[in-house]
Amino acid sequence: MDEVSSIYGIDPNDLINNRGLLRSIFNVYDHTILVVELAFSSSGALNALPIMFANSAAQRLFQTSLSSQADLLSLDISFHSGQSWENFINRSLGDETCEEEVLYNINGVRKSGQMVVLKVSNTKLIILLKDIKPSDIDPQIATLRTLDNKTECMLNFGSWEYDVDAGSMYWSKGMYQIFNLPDNSPVSADKYLDFAIPGDKLLIEEFIMRLKSSEYSFEQDLALNVQGKVKLIHVESSPIKNASGKICKVIGLNADITETVEFKKELSTQQHFIEQILQASPVLIDIYDLNREVFIYFSKEVSPFVGYTSDTMLSMRPEELQGLVDEDDKQRVLDFFNGFGAATDDDIRTIEYRIKAIDNTYRWLKVRAKVFMRDESGKVSQVICAVQDYTLTKDAEDRLRENEMMQLLLQRKDEFINIASHELKTPITTVKASLQILQRMMERQEREPVINVFLQKALSQTNKLVVLTRDLIDNAKLQSGKMRLNLEVFDLDTFLSEAIEEQMEGFEIIVENLVKRPIRADRRRLEQVLKNFLSNAAKYSPSADKIIVKAEEEINSFRISVKDFGIGIPDDKVSNVFDRFYRVDEKAVQFPGLGLGLHICAEIIKMHGGDYGVDSVFGEGSTFWFSIPDTTPH
Ligand code: ADP
Repeated sequence: MDEVSSIYGIDPNDLINNRGLLRSIFNVYDHTILVVELAFSSSGALNALPIMFANSAAQRLFQTSLSSQADLLSLDISFHSGQSWENFINRSLGDETCEEEVLYNINGVRKSGQMVVLKVSNTKLIILLKDIKPSDIDPQIATLRTLDNKTECMLNFGSWEYDVDAGSMYWSKGMYQIFNLPDNSPVSADKYLDFAIPGDKLLIEEFIMRLKSSEYSFEQDLALNVQGKVKLIHVESSPIKNASGKICKVIGLNADITETVEFKKELSTQQHFIEQILQASPVLIDIYDLNREVFIYFSKEVSPFVGYTSDTMLSMRPEELQGLVDEDDKQRVLDFFNGFGAATDDDIRTIEYRIKAIDNTYRWLKVRAKVFMRDESGKVSQVICAVQDYTLTKDAEDRLRENEMMQLLLQRKDEFINIASHELKTPITTVKASLQILQRMMERQEREPVINVFLQKALSQTNKLVVLTRDLIDNAKLQSGKMRLNLEVFDLDTFLSEAIEEQMEGFEIIVENLVKRPIRADRRRLEQVLKNFLSNAAKYSPSADKIIVKAEEEINSFRISVKDFGIGIPDDKVSNVFDRFYRVDEKAVQFPGLGLGLHICAEIIKMHGGDYGVDSVFGEGSTFWFSIPDTTPH
């Protein structure tokens, strides 16, 4: 029984024979409809498929290729699955309907379509060829496409669809606009070649091959010549699979990025320029985020500065970064950055501080910083800093300073030798002269009372020499750490009267001793201190005649002070008077001295574990004092 008649209740032979009826029915269809006959060879192989009937859609499609009784096998139609016609026909003869995707190339038009075969009889088949035409597109999709076209044109991009099987290409309106072509003019994948820049042809051919082979999604930037102007087109391409998983289409986007790229290029040229400057500069630029308390940018590798790489420094937490700053500088650095809250945009602030490098050495950094960014509320959020490794300069400065100190010491030493020789010369000359006079008097057997005067002079100058020599020896002892104390218990009353005895003519010395119990100290050394205070009090009081000596008890110590009404000491010099070789007025000849006495006193007091100092009003007088802990056994 014929199968079509069972479906439609029509005798297919009638249909075939009545061409007028067939034509009127089949011609209303937009699809290609053919009725073919099967011609087999004597061996049973399929020989030909002569076309018995072709509807008007078929006529349009095949045009001149379709002469009467044309053999369908002679047309360029192949099966997508790769099977042969014979196989397909045999299947059609067995199955109810057979459906296959086919590729056909008719009069140079490559298309793909769907072939449906209905078996009319064992020798006749109805073939329906359905290709995908714009009219097949859902009106909604068409609307979307129109909208897309409009958006594309506005945004300078276009979309395309490449039909893998048919090898045909569809371009959206945006594509035509990018390439300056009239809308809907015929295009193919090879169209890109028309825009290839001389020398780039191979590259474009490779691109087209890549697009057609369509296995994977890809992106590529193409430089193309569009009407004499080089355009940079960014292409994105993705394959689309049909229900059976086969790639049937490649869809893609083209974006004209000429302006963006040029802009980027310009920007990157500038950036490159700045980078070169930053690289060449010995100064490191960094950006510090005040809120997060971390670095967010370094202009170059920081490892030459600190040993840590820029990446490590950028990933350090606030505590880690603060840990690198030298303990003595930490608060200052924190205050420096916190202080930026109040900075104006033009403020440039500077700070020098030490940070610990990876090898635990300290580097001196000199930082110049200014506001870089503010948040929406106007609060400073980021600070930009120019950082200089100042270590070598700092070392050099330190060495210079040490050098200067050395020079100063050497100069002081020279001065000291000058002063010392002068100090020694005066009493020696006096002693010598006195002795010569005495000698002459002795020769002449003179026994004048004046002898006593000269003896007295020689004696007092000799005493000065003794003190001077003792100071020099003490200084040497202190320098070599060889001074020792001889502690003994003694009574302050006797001590004070002995120390003051024979001292300073022309001065009234008022003694007030409030310490009524024995004390324990190096008596000889303490006497040396008190005598030094007293002789200074007299020496630096040219127009006064009174000195007050006071001894008082304190908690666990006793204190002795010597108050004079002399020249006093200027405020800015007071703190230095106990320094070695220090003299308030170095050039003063009015008050000779070596600048050693008070230094030795201070050392003696320190050896006793005591304290010392001076209260002075310039022009009114000074009170020198010392206190010694009470170590007397009770
Ligand atoms: P010098 O041998 O110069 O007196 P000292 O070490 O005893 O050395 O004193 C250091 C300096 O302190 C003195 O040069 C002097 O300028 C100052 N000085 C010491 N005692 C007094 C004082 N009673 N009044 C004013 N200045 C004093």
